[in-house]
Amino acid sequence: MNIVVCAKQVVDVGEIKVNPSTGKPVLEGIPKKISDIDKNAAEEAIRIKEKLKGKVTVITVGSEDARERIKEILAMGADDAVLIVPPEGADYHVISNLIAKAIKDMGQVDLVLCGEASIDMFSGQMGPRIAGAMDIPQLSYAFKIDAEAEKITAERNMGDKRVVSESTYPVLLTVTKEINVPRLPSLMQILGSAAKPIKVLKAPDMNVPDLAPKVVLEDVKGLAMNRKNLIFKDDLDQAVKDLAENLSKDGALG
Ligand SMILES: Cc1cc2nc3c(=O)[nH]c(=O)nc-3n(C[C@H](O)[C@H](O)[C@H](O)COP(=O)(O)OP(=O)(O)OC[C@H]3O[C@@H](n4cnc5c(N)ncnc54)[C@H](O)[C@@H]3O)c2cc1C
Repeated sequence: MNIVVCAKQVVDVGEIKVNPSTGKPVLEGIPKKISDIDKNAAEEAIRIKEKLKGKVTVITVGSEDARERIKEILAMGADDAVLIVPPEGADYHVISNLIAKAIKDMGQVDLVLCGEASIDMFSGQMGPRIAGAMDIPQLSYAFKIDAEAEKITAERNMGDKRVVSESTYPVLLTVTKEINVPRLPSLMQILGSAAKPIKVLKAPDMNVPDLAPKVVLEDVKGLAMNRKNLIFKDDLDQAVKDLAENLSKDGALG
């Protein structure tokens, strides 16, 4: 079983501050990490490899510094990685075309796993776009997977419905956070990840026919959240009453 996990390097969104005078998010100095749900996708890929044997490759489209983050997934148990450096202004269309081409160039790939969405842009487009560009079936929002040698079954969260779908290979799945708890690698695995190969590809060398972006990012603004810093204490009954009154006044209790 040849498995690919798409993992994105993102800024830690919990650490983003908004510049009050410009309204713009301040990204300088914010730590980067692998998007949370991509660790779930990696965990699932490694579990499938442990069950059916095979290989797990991580693909990241991002800047060169993503290497360090990719090593976290190699330490979890992935075998190797591909880091694609995108052209300036790469959008969903460009990035999905790059990932699809890199996967096609690998030869036989049976299973592609993505997160349902990244924690920064959260568009949820990438999985379906990659499947479209590869012309393979997709099963989105999987919260439980049963992979067998000839077919894969996924329980999928479709809002108010739970849908069970099945596919033969090759197929792309996007997974939700509920699917598993990603493992924490041991110190030996972390040290061992340094020896695993990371192939770096530059977009212009990849022979991708359409690298023209379709989305123009005009502006990004952060919403400043101001805390009221109200403290309710001492008499518990009174504190609960005051809290409920304040929440109600702000429309939080409907
Ligand atoms: C270096 C860089 C430069 C960019 N420049 C621009 C720009 O100039 N203009 C603009 O509009 N946008 C830009 N983007 C943003 C880009 O369009 C989106 O981040 C990207 O297309 C994915 O959208 P998303 O995060 O909403 O994906 P989602 O669809 O929410 O992500 C779903 C899943 O797809 C996979 N995935 C998503 N992105 C990647 C990735 N990069 N590598 C590997 N797997 C991935 C993961 O498994 C993820 O869980 C840039 C992104 C990067 C990494």
